[in-house]
Amino acid sequence: MTYIQGETGDWEVVIGLEVHAQVITKSKLFSGAATDFGAAPNSQVSFVDAAFPGMLPVINEHAVEQAVRTGLGLKAQINLHSVFDRKNYFYADLPSGYQISQYLQPIVGKGELVLDMPDGSSRTVGITRLHLEQDAGKSIHDQHPSKTYIDLNRSGVALMEIVSEPDLRSAEEAAAYVRKLRSILRYLGTCDGNMEEGSMRCDCNVSVRKPGQPFGTRCEIKNVNSIRFVMAAIEYEAARQVEVLEAGGKIDQETRLWDTTKLVTRSMRSKEEAHDYRYFPDPDLLPLELEPEWVEEIKRTLPELPDEKKARFIGDYKLSAYDANVLVNEKAKADYFETVAKGRDAKQAANWVTVELFGALNKAGLEIEQSPVSAENLGGLLDLIADNTISGRIAKEVFAEMFETGEKPADIVEKKGLRQVTDTGAIEATIDQILAANADKVAEYKSGKDKLFGFFVGQAMKATQGKANPAMVNEILQKKLQG
Ligand code: ADP
Ligand code: MG
Repeated sequence: MTYIQGETGDWEVVIGLEVHAQVITKSKLFSGAATDFGAAPNSQVSFVDAAFPGMLPVINEHAVEQAVRTGLGLKAQINLHSVFDRKNYFYADLPSGYQISQYLQPIVGKGELVLDMPDGSSRTVGITRLHLEQDAGKSIHDQHPSKTYIDLNRSGVALMEIVSEPDLRSAEEAAAYVRKLRSILRYLGTCDGNMEEGSMRCDCNVSVRKPGQPFGTRCEIKNVNSIRFVMAAIEYEAARQVEVLEAGGKIDQETRLWDTTKLVTRSMRSKEEAHDYRYFPDPDLLPLELEPEWVEEIKRTLPELPDEKKARFIGDYKLSAYDANVLVNEKAKADYFETVAKGRDAKQAANWVTVELFGALNKAGLEIEQSPVSAENLGGLLDLIADNTISGRIAKEVFAEMFETGEKPADIVEKKGLRQVTDTGAIEATIDQILAANADKVAEYKSGKDKLFGFFVGQAMKATQGKANPAMVNEILQKKLQG
């Protein structure tokens, strides 16, 4: 638990997140218009999305399936009966004057999500609900000096709003929550989780309290669009609230904005209440009734999710929780690792993948899918270590070359003549030379300066450009220095 220290004592931060996740579907929630990102403005707008009078919404079955799949992935209650409501408000990019959403009877109820903290520990937080709703259009303010343009491509796109319980207690936990949720959505194939493109956006509810006291009044920071900003916005907001309260003030429940240039939260409007929206069931849509068998069928097709994969990696491969976390957070990483580990030493494979490969990818700014070193080739490199063709040290050199060129490890070893010297005679000859050239040091060693052993090993490796088998060097040196 991390507390904020104030003059009057410690303050605990309480956070609940509302994540808007754009559903992966070809068409919109209630119309057949396309949802491709980056299309020309207003090129993907049906009469329903533009709210022409008399147009009727028709529910997109695939969007419903995606919401159910997500609910199942969050181990949540699936509500076989749910209702679409109109949430009324005026906005220039909302031509209907209301958003079709779900209020009292959402499609998904309580679920849970396991946080994987960087130190390897984990903690379960509650999911309150998930509901389906339409996205609004977009107002564009920077194309004309005095006009605002409206792009309705996004109008009507299916969103899942996923609401957490106020269970999070630090900016780090909030970040871990968003990371884990994004990972699950990507495994499920229900949202691409791309925060830069706005397909996942986060509202952060923040309050502070003295430990043991009831929850304080919260502020909601709207539409934060990166994990880094989620952390920064929460940290800023919590510190601001502590300052107000310590000065004897009180927190007004309000909606705030995260200013991405000044890195502060700013008041946008006082918090609206549910009754301000005049929610009522949309008379154009029947309640949504799901067949239990249909839900079961979706359940049967769920992929192995990060938590189960993590448990399997720890159980079957004997990996640490930390390594397992790093490997399972993206499916492509987990698959890569399993290809390398198959039939090989799993711990060594995990080490090479998480340290050498991920380190190199990170430095080069590449995703796992873009790795110049294929899983098969990395596996091949480990085989060369295992059969003593090269030492672990030379393997790092070979790996660097593989990362540069994408070549096969065996080809690099041959081309550069890196094959390990395991010929006893050759190693013995080299060691004899070294001992002869350093007679003084040999005498010192024999009179008790044990540390010099390392010096002889170093000389032998240097003389063979690192290619001598280290175990053999050790063994031969022991024997010769004893005599
Ligand atoms: P609203 O529609 O008013 O935003 P919701 O119930 O949809 O209300 O969302 C409320 C969010 O605020 C949830 O994520 C919840 O966990 C969080 N929350 C509720 N009370 C507090 C509090 N005192 N401090 C921080 N977060 C809170
Ligand atoms: Mg809200």
